[in-house]
Amino acid sequence: MLLFSTDIDGTVYDNTDSTARFAKFWSTLRDTHGYPKLAYNTGRSVDDTLALIARTELPTPDFIISGVGTSIVHGDGERPLSEFLNTLRDNWDFDIVFDVISAIDGPRPQPPECQNPYKCSWFWEDATSAQLDNLLSALTQRGINAQAIYSSNRDLDLLPIAANKANALLHLAYHLDLPRSEVVVAGDSGNDAAMLSLKGSKAIVVANAEPALIAALQGTSFFHASKTCADGVIEGLQHFANPHPSA
Ligand SMILES: [Mg+2]
Repeated sequence: MLLFSTDIDGTVYDNTDSTARFAKFWSTLRDTHGYPKLAYNTGRSVDDTLALIARTELPTPDFIISGVGTSIVHGDGERPLSEFLNTLRDNWDFDIVFDVISAIDGPRPQPPECQNPYKCSWFWEDATSAQLDNLLSALTQRGINAQAIYSSNRDLDLLPIAANKANALLHLAYHLDLPRSEVVVAGDSGNDAAMLSLKGSKAIVVANAEPALIAALQGTSFFHASKTCADGVIEGLQHFANPHPSA
């Protein structure tokens, strides 16, 4: 493993001691050249991620992929991999997206810190799939090719069609000149499905994963940890380090 891409909430962080155990374990894996690299791959914003790292035991990452695959920066929150954004620009314009959804009665914009140029985020309680389909159609009529990620029956992220955790991770692996076979990923919920099902990489699903994620991963190969959250991540990393322990 040369690159580990992990979701944060519910995967390496759940407000318990397991995050500290993960930090300690992770420090034993790093060689003198700084490999494997660590990339957090989260729905959180960069600032929110940095603040969480500062107040918890989470190890300092080499990269932060934030906003559900809509931004990649180095671990200090600076020096974005801006070339990646070229893949998101087609048929996308934040202002038009904001304009179109503003015309609908019901949705309210999430606070400014939840928005970025490639992520337009709203609160919309009990939106139906028909309402979301109508929204996407209205966007198409304005030249926008968006996807709607709706979770917790309230949170709506409108993203460019190519934006997801997997595509951002692939860009990072390409940037680092690393083959997929050297990449391990970990996650617990629906927006992790794309990166967990990347062919050629190794995937860890923690024991507390949402049933919807397990359903989405049907037919793919992954390590299903018996332990929850960061303890499950440690279990998975140990498994991939030594998949066939000798008796
Ligand atoms: Mg999560």
